[in-house]
Parts: sequence; structure tokens; C-alpha cells
Amino acid sequence: MMTKKDILSMDLEQLEQLLKEWKEPKFRAKQLFAWLHEKQVTDFAKMTNLSQSLREKLQAETKISALDMVEKLVSKEDGTRKYLFALENGSVIESVLMQYDYGNTVCVSTQAGCRMGCRFCASTLDGVERSLTAGEMLSQIYQIQKDLGQRISGVVLMGSGEPLDNYENVLRFIKLLNDPMGQNMGQRHMTLSTCGLIEKMYDLAEQQLQITLAVSLHAPNDEIRKQIMPVAKANPMDKLLQSCQAYTDKTKRRLTFEYALMQGVNDSDACARELASRLRQMLCHVNLIPMNPVKERAYTKTSKAQVQRFATILQQNGVETTIRRKLGSDIDAACGQLRRRYMQK
Ligand code: SAH
Repeated sequence: MMTKKDILSMDLEQLEQLLKEWKEPKFRAKQLFAWLHEKQVTDFAKMTNLSQSLREKLQAETKISALDMVEKLVSKEDGTRKYLFALENGSVIESVLMQYDYGNTVCVSTQAGCRMGCRFCASTLDGVERSLTAGEMLSQIYQIQKDLGQRISGVVLMGSGEPLDNYENVLRFIKLLNDPMGQNMGQRHMTLSTCGLIEKMYDLAEQQLQITLAVSLHAPNDEIRKQIMPVAKANPMDKLLQSCQAYTDKTKRRLTFEYALMQGVNDSDACARELASRLRQMLCHVNLIPMNPVKERAYTKTSKAQVQRFATILQQNGVETTIRRKLGSDIDAACGQLRRRYMQK
């Protein structure tokens, strides 16, 4: 059987190339791009300014990688929505809609599962099933936008998966999402979160994007970091911070360090002081995350008072710090847990 072409992942140039092979006029590529990414139509029959024969050929030889929405939970507290989508092969992924005063942001998954192995995270418990295509990442946003009936203006790559372990597809996703002929989302409204794959961070810096890079640090030194993040063994902190410095030098963009506070692991005053001493000189800010307890994991969250104290120590030592607000606590199930519940059914 012929595998259908993944048309939602193609950029304009590729659409032009495809239509050229099909002996269609070049301007059709722009029309098609607008249907896919601006109007976000998922049915070729609705692309009324394309000829009947082209629509039929598209239907026969390509597919719009739409995801199947299998579950939706809406928070009564703040409108946060959690979605569970099934991929074609039956794997499932989670996406979250967060509503802020400044707009709607979607937390997108980049892989089904993850192979980075962070010991506090639910997404990595069964390893990675597969990486998502650019179209599958876009489809999370397009579908949620349709479901909500409001524009999605921001995205954070903080769902399941390690974005830099799916580098090419993620880059393509960012560029397609940013395209003025499509969703036209500003790069400054996009955040890519990584567990710190150093080499790929240097590659990303070369792209000179305006996105925000967030690095999951979660520890002030390698000793603690290695206990909770296996990826720290091949990506030691000195080199990681050097790559962060190189990234900000190159892009002039302030970097975010994520730090999930886990009781008795990384949340002492001494940890805060050590962290401050390492970050003080950098163009960065620290986002403290109250840890989300995961049933299968041993870690518990730090008390509110200690989270505040940790923040104050960082601030007093010259490091800009915020504490992440928790949304949708009534539909909780920490990141990745909705997916796990579904998989175990
Ligand atoms: N792989 C990427 C992005 C996915 S996770 C990364 O590692 O950055 C997004 C953020 O949630 C990361 O900072 C991750 O470390 C954090 N996280 C994962 N599990 C968590 C949990 N149980 N509680 C709090 N934060 C968690």
C-alpha cells in the first residue's frame, strides 16, 4: 500500500514542489497552504477554490494528520483544559490549554512518551513510543483553537517528549506556526523547554530564533542533578551553562531555568545559594515549579513556605525568580498522568 504524504508537515516550498510534480500551477500551493494553516480545514472537499481533480488527488495521495480527540477535561476553577489525543498508530498524547489575561497558550507534546528518564516525570515511565511530526504538533493547536472558539496566541513545548530529541520536526513546527500565511504566531510567544541536550542547544542557537529557551535544571550541581536526571551524565552542568551562555550571547534572548522543588532533594537554603552563585552573571530568570507528585515516583513537593524562601534567597542573590502559578488543579493528574491512566485501561 502506498503511504500517504503527510501534507500538514510540508512548508510552502515543498507544497510547490509537489504541485509542480502534479503539473498544477504554482499559485495553487499558496491556496493549499492557506486552507491547511490559516483556515485550518481538515477536509479536502471544503477547499472550494481548488479544482475537483486536485482535491481528489490530494484526498487519494496525501493526508492531513488530524489527531483524534479521545478525552477532554475542563477545569471549573480557571478554564484550563486537558486534552487526550490519539495518533494514527493508537499512541496517545496530552495537550493542555491554559487561559491567561494576555491570551490562550497551549502546552504541546513533541513525542509520545519520552526517553530522557527524569526520575520525577510521568511521561518517561515507559520510554518513548515515537516522535511526532510537525503536522501532529500543529494539529494539537489547530484542534484546540477550534474547540475553544478563540485564538491560541502562545505555545509552550512542555508536554510529553524532549523537543531537542525530535529536533528537525520541532524546528519545522516552529517555522510553520510562525508563518504569516498560516497561524502567524510570533516566535516570542513560543517557549521550547529542554532537559539540556548541549549539542542540540548549540545547533538551535545557530537558528537565531526569537523563541524563549527554557532549560530544566532542577539542581544546583551535578551530584544532585545526576540523581534525578540521567541526562546529566552526558550533559554536565559546567558545559550546559556554557552552552546557555553561548545561546544568550548569540540570540540576545533571556533564558529561563526551570526548577521543580522536591522535598529533601534540591530545596535546601544551601541549594538556593549554590544555584544563585552559578546563575548570577547570566541573562536568565528562574521559574520555580511546585513539584507535581506522580503516583509512581518517590518525590514529594516542597512546602509553600520553603518555595517562597528558596525564591527569596535567589532574588536576594541577584537572580530574577518567579514561582509558577498552578492552573487547573481540580482536573489535576500531573503532567502525563492522564495519558498513563488511558494507557492502563
Ligand atoms: N523534555 C522537556 C520538556 C517537557 S517537561 C524538558 O525536560 O524540559 C516540561 C517541564 O516539566 C520540565 O521542566 C520538566 O522537568 C517538568 N516536569 C516533569 N515532571 C514534573 C513533575 N512531576 N513536577 C513538576 N515538573 C515536572
